[in-house]
Amino acid sequence: MSRRLGDHAIVVGGSIAGLIAARVLADYFAQVTILERDHIEPHPAVHRSTPQAHHLHAVQVGGIRVLAALYPGFCEKLSQMGAVPLRLTRDFPVYRPDGVAFSLTGTVREPRDLGLQLFGQSRALLEHCLRQCTLTLPNVSAQCDAQVEHLIAHRGHVEGVFYKLEGEPRSLMCDLVVDCGGRGSRAPRWLNELGFSAPEETIIGVDFAYSSTKFHIRDHDGDLSPFSFVVGPPPHYTRGGALARIENDTWLVSLGGRFHDYPPRDHAGFMAFAEALPAPRIYDVIKHAERIEPIAHFRFPTSVLRHYERLKSFPERFLVLGDAISSFNPVYGQGMSSAALQAQALQTILAERAESPDGLDGIANVFFPKAADVISTPWTLAANLDFAFPQTTGARPPVPQEILRYFTTLDQITAEDVEIHRILVEVVGLARPLTDLWDEPVRSRVLARMNQLDGTA
Ligand SMILES: Cc1cc2nc3c(=O)[nH]c(=O)nc-3n(C[C@H](O)[C@H](O)[C@H](O)COP(=O)(O)OP(=O)(O)OC[C@H]3O[C@@H](n4cnc5c(N)ncnc54)[C@H](O)[C@@H]3O)c2cc1C
Repeated sequence: MSRRLGDHAIVVGGSIAGLIAARVLADYFAQVTILERDHIEPHPAVHRSTPQAHHLHAVQVGGIRVLAALYPGFCEKLSQMGAVPLRLTRDFPVYRPDGVAFSLTGTVREPRDLGLQLFGQSRALLEHCLRQCTLTLPNVSAQCDAQVEHLIAHRGHVEGVFYKLEGEPRSLMCDLVVDCGGRGSRAPRWLNELGFSAPEETIIGVDFAYSSTKFHIRDHDGDLSPFSFVVGPPPHYTRGGALARIENDTWLVSLGGRFHDYPPRDHAGFMAFAEALPAPRIYDVIKHAERIEPIAHFRFPTSVLRHYERLKSFPERFLVLGDAISSFNPVYGQGMSSAALQAQALQTILAERAESPDGLDGIANVFFPKAADVISTPWTLAANLDFAFPQTTGARPPVPQEILRYFTTLDQITAEDVEIHRILVEVVGLARPLTDLWDEPVRSRVLARMNQLDGTA
């Protein structure tokens, strides 16, 4: 174990962010306790507070890399549990109104193996795997049916939590509390209770809905990729869909639509929506397949970003991480990878603090700006894509014509420049920061192409 920063850390919420945060804290605290309000089954299952888990959940390349670094053997374990390994840009056809492509914009038309590993699995399996990996650590324990009600604090220092265990009031003392309570986190309310301000929020009205279910697909054309997307370019196309092979030889289909163009929850409506997607691929595959689960539906009205980094004062010994800070439009599949990257940022800070006399003092002032940095790539990417639809509400970031032209040119270059394609895919996959698209080698190649186009204009 590294030098200790405390005897005990408490994590509120034992889902994706909470489990990864506990893994990181375990290196610096003698004991880490996860308090999770839901009842958690000892096998892969969707628990009450995470109904989104019925829908497609993919971890991006950046998230997979963090998980593989935090949990040695993670990818192998996930595969052994039944997740389906696949290569992004090779096993990932995108069916569009103008044919099949291997990039979302349709620019890359042939499969390429860039060595970028992903997995097809249910969210329940992923969370179960993460839970198993985290709870094998000897100093991490989890209490389920344990709802945290309030923080215990003295003179602005958080010292523990009041919680209810199966309805019975309890308290638990610690040196640090990390709230991973998800989008519905009570942290803003707890701050108010302690006399601090709640964070400002940026809200983008995306008005999105998902309907998902699972199929057994016995007969198909033999050329069925483990992961297929159906999309059309915005703003005309407001619907899309995904078909993913997951554990137990089942296929998860998630259909999505914006601005009241929601996928239905009844079988006939679901199939009709699939048939009317921008390309018929998913419908063609599932029309004779056996549906094996009820159709789950999820409405996602707004993306929310809480600006903890802007608060002038904040209690000592308290942090917030995961969806509790930023809840992204799910269609871009960023939330879990963002949580992993935030936990990685926390790990770096804890390592520095373990060498510093400051210990945990003022850690929030360092963590929240770092978390905001990590979040800025997925948030900016998602916001720009969402604002391609005029119906999206919120403060629309100005995008000058020159920048639009830069990105259009960059995208065009990916058709023949594999290195630039890889960089773009890694940025979108949260394995690199957005700023890499402005740096070399991308910059000079894009500018050269723009100059060339100017010369031929
Ligand atoms: C339809 C849909 C599809 C998505 N698809 C993807 C995808 O493909 N890829 C991706 O990366 N992300 C996806 N996401 C986002 C992803 O679900 C979230 O980013 C992820 O769940 C965040 O994890 P979290 O641990 O921060 O929060 P949550 O998963 O919401 O977990 C919060 C946990 O905290 C517990 N809790 C809350 N309050 C308390 C309390 N007071 N006391 C004790 N416990 C408490 C809850 O019970 C819950 O278990 C999707 C989201 C939706 C809605």
